[in-house]
Amino acid sequence: MRNLDQFEFKCSTCDEIHKGMPSFGTNAPNYYFSIPKDEISERVFLTTDTCVIDNENFFVRACLEFPVIEYLEKFSFGAWVSLSEENFYKFEELFDKEIREDEPPMFGWFSSWVWPYYEDTENIKSRIHFRNYGIRPYIELEPTNHPLALAQTIGISEKDLYKIYEYYVHG
Ligand SMILES: [Zn+2]
Repeated sequence: MRNLDQFEFKCSTCDEIHKGMPSFGTNAPNYYFSIPKDEISERVFLTTDTCVIDNENFFVRACLEFPVIEYLEKFSFGAWVSLSEENFYKFEELFDKEIREDEPPMFGWFSSWVWPYYEDTENIKSRIHFRNYGIRPYIELEPTNHPLALAQTIGISEKDLYKIYEYYVHG
């Protein structure tokens, strides 16, 4: 069993050896990317952890974590979940709270694409589980046969990580 900071592989895109694991994720929920550029400033409020669109769609950023076969740690991807308005404001209230791991989980719809599992990911029910101050909540996807949900329950291989790494680092 290894740690992710020991991860290294020879990249087939750039031919270099990549070492360690950068943080991966998306900076906004999917919906954001469908909004015309000239409307963004008027319709969107976006921070590193929260996003409100048209004052009626509420999203938060959390960690989607996959077990990696033969690794001790999980691979973490920064993804977005839409919450009800009520839960969104509760999330904001909790944001600066030191101890919050005992807070009940919140229901949300998964709102990101994660290459290469992105088919219909917006239909996946999920819950976010709080962790203490400074650590983003983690996402639990409803255990279905969706490839993304399976990746979360079964785990991914080191080879899957090579591909994800290359995709997000080199585009
Ligand atoms: Zn490379």
